[in-house]
Amino acid sequence: MTGSLPVAERGLVRRAALRLIRLDGRAFAAMIALNALAAVAGLAGPWLLGRIIDAVKSGAGAAAVDRLALAILAAALVQLVLSRYASHLGHRFGERTLARIRERFTERALDLPVSVVERAGTGDLTTRGTADVAAVGATLRDAGPDVLIAAVQAAFILAAVFVLDPRLGACGVLGLLGIWFAARWYLRRAVPAYLAEGAANSALAEQLAATTAGARTVAALRLEHRRITACQAAIGECRRTRVRTLFLRSVLFPVVDVSYAIPVAGVLLVGGFMANGSMTLGTVVAAALYLRQLGQPLDTILLHLEGMQSSGASFARVEGLALVPRPAPAAGPELVPDGDRLVAAGVHYAYEGGPDVLRGVDLTVRPGERLAIVGPSGAGKTTLGRLLAGVDVPRTGSVTVGGVPVAALDPGRLRERVVLVTQEHHVFLGTVRDNLRIAAPSATDAELRAALATVGADWIDDLPDGLGADLGPGGHRPDGAQAQQLALARVVLADPHTLILDEATALLDPRTARHTERALAAVLDGRTVIAIAHRLQTAHDADRVAVMQDGRLTELGTHHDLVAAGGTYAELWRSWHGD
Ligand code: ADP
Repeated sequence: MTGSLPVAERGLVRRAALRLIRLDGRAFAAMIALNALAAVAGLAGPWLLGRIIDAVKSGAGAAAVDRLALAILAAALVQLVLSRYASHLGHRFGERTLARIRERFTERALDLPVSVVERAGTGDLTTRGTADVAAVGATLRDAGPDVLIAAVQAAFILAAVFVLDPRLGACGVLGLLGIWFAARWYLRRAVPAYLAEGAANSALAEQLAATTAGARTVAALRLEHRRITACQAAIGECRRTRVRTLFLRSVLFPVVDVSYAIPVAGVLLVGGFMANGSMTLGTVVAAALYLRQLGQPLDTILLHLEGMQSSGASFARVEGLALVPRPAPAAGPELVPDGDRLVAAGVHYAYEGGPDVLRGVDLTVRPGERLAIVGPSGAGKTTLGRLLAGVDVPRTGSVTVGGVPVAALDPGRLRERVVLVTQEHHVFLGTVRDNLRIAAPSATDAELRAALATVGADWIDDLPDGLGADLGPGGHRPDGAQAQQLALARVVLADPHTLILDEATALLDPRTARHTERALAAVLDGRTVIAIAHRLQTAHDADRVAVMQDGRLTELGTHHDLVAAGGTYAELWRSWHGD
């Protein structure tokens, strides 16, 4: 499947992030303020230690030193309490924001046009909803608050050194330059390197799984040698990518460690020359202690940088859903179809990036008629069915019901007019009642039972909880025929004027087909039916037959007229009928 979902670009990601912060602005501001206070409390320790040194040098008494020491203890306690509380706020902020992201994702995913989901494949959407949202969550929950705290701390520490003495502050910044360059160098290479490592791991897992799953085939076709070569290549690639990431780490960590020592050594050197002169020994010690303290927040930031970068990419994918173009909501008063006449006029349609598969289809379905659409595989029958049901929108031309474009109707209204029944019968997790009410949210139990009776689903009565019985894993697991009956009961409840059947019974096993046929007949009764026919018997029994060939409607008429006309349909009928 082509046509993957879009990814949000930078500006949009930034705006989305700011919007999330604004939604919980008070908590965010409180978190920053508390962090700042905690950082200030953290600065008191080294400064007081410097004062102790200066006091001792100037011959102050033990009582003064004790007071300063007690103040250090108090400052440490205040810092502990404030930073605990700040991180508590941070984590709660993270959880709330993650919940918001999840809710928005779910809303947007459910709001996607069906054709977009089908085209992108569910894999992409599922990955975004699970792995990507989880990556964003990990950042919000842990990395985000920690990095924020660390950044505030680092900024205050550096500022404090500048306040103590700008020359010592300059030493600190010089030392940090090394980390800055090393981190940039690393991050530029790390993202592709880790992506390659991840891809190599997946490829190896796939090779191994494919080899073991197909072991018998491998043995039967004597493919052992080829499989071993393929696995060895995958292992080699794994090793190569791991050595690469190991190399990157082996450069980063030593550089960072040395960079931490540089400013401290610089301060001690500069301070050594100047102590007793333009600065006191206490100032030099306080500055050196500050710069040593700087290591801790910087470590935290470096530790999470990579994760934050990749979760930024995940966030861009999550936000990308917002970029999927949607049919514009009908402006002005809600459109109400006038009657049930379904009309396709001048319809052209192409799947994304492909050639036109419908090329100028005109078709008026008469209310109440049975219309069969026949034609070779690939002629465009299914596509026409989807357009008539409003699943897809024509590229040019129009599909209207009662004069209103089907795709502009809201789903509830459209359901009352046209419903497409395919051979996919999904049973949703939940009770029988939940499964049926999807089609008619306000239906009473009596109506639900009547619908089930219409399609002959008497097995519901044997379930212990009847309509309240859970379906799916852990409850009753409906088989194919039962799932189809549920789908048909939904159609009865939606009570559409027009039904479009696509291969409704084509793939059912013959034992259940007869049963289903009866249920289907009950559902079709009194409705307009457009059947995408795979058996010519269906066409023979229909009021009119439409023949599709190569994206065009080539013949339209009753079975007898078309046979008499001696065209494509007549030929098909003859070859099928064998006369
Ligand atoms: P039919 O139902 O008559 O067999 P379809 O409507 O399924 O024909 O297909 C018409 C044409 O559209 C075919 O050429 C098919 O390959 C193409 N087609 C169908 N579905 C898709 C899709 N999801 N993406 C791209 N092309 C498609």
